[in-house]
Amino acid sequence: MTVLGCIADDFTGATDLAGLLARSGAAVNLRIGIPDSPPSETADFEVIALKCRTEPVAEAVAETKAALAWLQQTGAERFFWKYCSTFDSTSQGNIGPVAEALMAELGAAQTIYCPAFPENGRSIFMGNLFVGEQPLAESPMKDHPLTPMRDSNLMRLLEPQVTRPVGLANRLVVDRGVEALQTHFANLHKDGVAHVVVDAVSDADLTTIAEACAGMSLITGGSAVAMPLPAIYREMGLLGAGAADARHIAPQGGTLVLSGSCSAMTRAQVAAYLEVAEGFRLDPLELAEEGVDAAKNWLLSKPAAAPKIIYATADPKSVGAAQNKLGVARAGKLVEDALAELATLARDNGTRRFVVAGGETSGAVTKSLNVDKLSIGREIAPGVPWTYTNSGGYDIALTLKSGNFGSESFFADALEMLT
Ligand code: ADP
Repeated sequence: MTVLGCIADDFTGATDLAGLLARSGAAVNLRIGIPDSPPSETADFEVIALKCRTEPVAEAVAETKAALAWLQQTGAERFFWKYCSTFDSTSQGNIGPVAEALMAELGAAQTIYCPAFPENGRSIFMGNLFVGEQPLAESPMKDHPLTPMRDSNLMRLLEPQVTRPVGLANRLVVDRGVEALQTHFANLHKDGVAHVVVDAVSDADLTTIAEACAGMSLITGGSAVAMPLPAIYREMGLLGAGAADARHIAPQGGTLVLSGSCSAMTRAQVAAYLEVAEGFRLDPLELAEEGVDAAKNWLLSKPAAAPKIIYATADPKSVGAAQNKLGVARAGKLVEDALAELATLARDNGTRRFVVAGGETSGAVTKSLNVDKLSIGREIAPGVPWTYTNSGGYDIALTLKSGNFGSESFFADALEMLT
């Protein structure tokens, strides 16, 4: 039976959360969107990845309520609403309205808001969110194209998004431990406070908070406050001692790296992998004129088992040149469509282990492989686990790495881990 049902407001946020939960050895499934059919083969932790961060409020609320309804069918009685550690939202929402809607469905009188992720430099003190040493509103998040964060105070950010009172459990209370924090929540509840922002500056704070909230039907926050939950649930007797590694057997077959990310780290990773693997470079200008046949022929000419990489990864100058000629959207789409088509071709010809680099690229590849459920395996690098799934009737292993994640030897390390 599922112990915790999680809803994430974007895809990489969902993989981040799923990866952190799987560190405990518990079984974790990631569902891409709300499944069409009722739950089957469920895991201890079920994570549904939505794409509702900047949707109109009514749509985000309707989608998350549908996700909740599906998760309730797994038997879960506790739920987690995951958003970004920089509280990405507008004054309309969607963090607050979704939380209030989920609370109403669950009959929850109170929930917490804790986006802190100390390992990644996100901390909260006196209700103010910091990115490294900068207040949120002075960090690069102030210029985000969709959700510019112009205030660092989480209570002020949350108040216009909700209908009921907002309060704070500050660092001094958290520092006094689980019982003091629970008493503080109860006192706030007496004062009518439904939404409690909770300070956290360290992993120890997050453990205190997770323990204090383990009985709540709804917790909201970044991925880090969920990390202590598996161990806590084990102590509570809700969860058996699992071992994620033992559950997964890497499918035998060929390997392929597909890279559509152009981030600095991915460029270094592609260069490093080209030292040990054969490569084919996709050029958006060539794709526009000649299509994807050259890449397909190259792929089919190589033995499935040979280490190989197909990449569009390029430096900012050549990316800019392609975008000038084709437009940003068309250049990106040509590359994504090509990599998506090559992924299915590779699968049909015996590739069973895929490494994919790039957030948007991962979306395009999982869509073309028709994958809707990923079982989370071992972490290759922080936030990037191996995942196991079925595509077109074949068992495959898939890892989806966004932009700057992983070290230079990530591609070789990832594949090495499966041998
Ligand atoms: P990241 O996780 O690094 O942001 P994404 O896959 O999300 O990577 O985004 C990279 C985008 O750049 C994709 O839309 C991809 O198709 C596009 N792209 C990749 N290579 C090139 C290139 N050589 N020229 C133009 N656009 C490219």
